[in-house]
Amino acid sequence: MLSFLKEMVAVLLPVRCAGCGRDISFASGQWLCYDCLAALPATDYHLMPMNPVFQLFMHHRQVQFATACYFFHHDGILQRIIHQIKYHHHQQLGLFMGSLMAQMLEHHLASVDYLIPVPLHQRKERQRGYNQASLLANAMADCLHIPVAHHLLRRKVFTPSQTYKGREARQQNVQHAFHLHADADMLKGKHLLLVDDVLTTGATLNACVETLAVLPDVQISIVTLAITQS
Ligand SMILES: [Zn+2]
Repeated sequence: MLSFLKEMVAVLLPVRCAGCGRDISFASGQWLCYDCLAALPATDYHLMPMNPVFQLFMHHRQVQFATACYFFHHDGILQRIIHQIKYHHHQQLGLFMGSLMAQMLEHHLASVDYLIPVPLHQRKERQRGYNQASLLANAMADCLHIPVAHHLLRRKVFTPSQTYKGREARQQNVQHAFHLHADADMLKGKHLLLVDDVLTTGATLNACVETLAVLPDVQISIVTLAITQS
């Protein structure tokens, strides 16, 4: 009875669109109004094999495919969405965006064996309560029926917020930030998809690729929700 009441309340209470703040019906199961959904700035990079994201990582022979789904502009809708996922505990919005990524990319990810969210340091994950990259990966996994390899790629050192650091400092900061758990042997010979929220310089993902690339015969692909536009 209680769960029925909770469901009724959830259906009746409007939620705010994460893009424009307009009231929308919870019953739609969406966290963006139709206008905002239609206006999401898709990159369509997945349709271009030599897209700018792939070019960032193509020097690793293991990298098969790389893309970022949407443009992240200062004060733009992706900035609002990611801010709510990271700082306002809007985990449902993270799952929703992950399902959009899966719909966009399902034909490009058919050969992927495992999804691997870019890890946060444990201390940061404890502070936030979750890893936003894991939310995206979990939703993609549900839609694509591909398992998530949790906690095999790990973050070693606590990197303080990188927001105010220059490109070079960031790169040095994350270069040796990851390591593999002993159980990561199961990833040998597999096609792994790294999943993250925002691509800025690519330093973090590059460090992840370098860490995974020590696994024999591994193939690596990369997808992020958004890419920053300077
Ligand atoms: Zn809206």
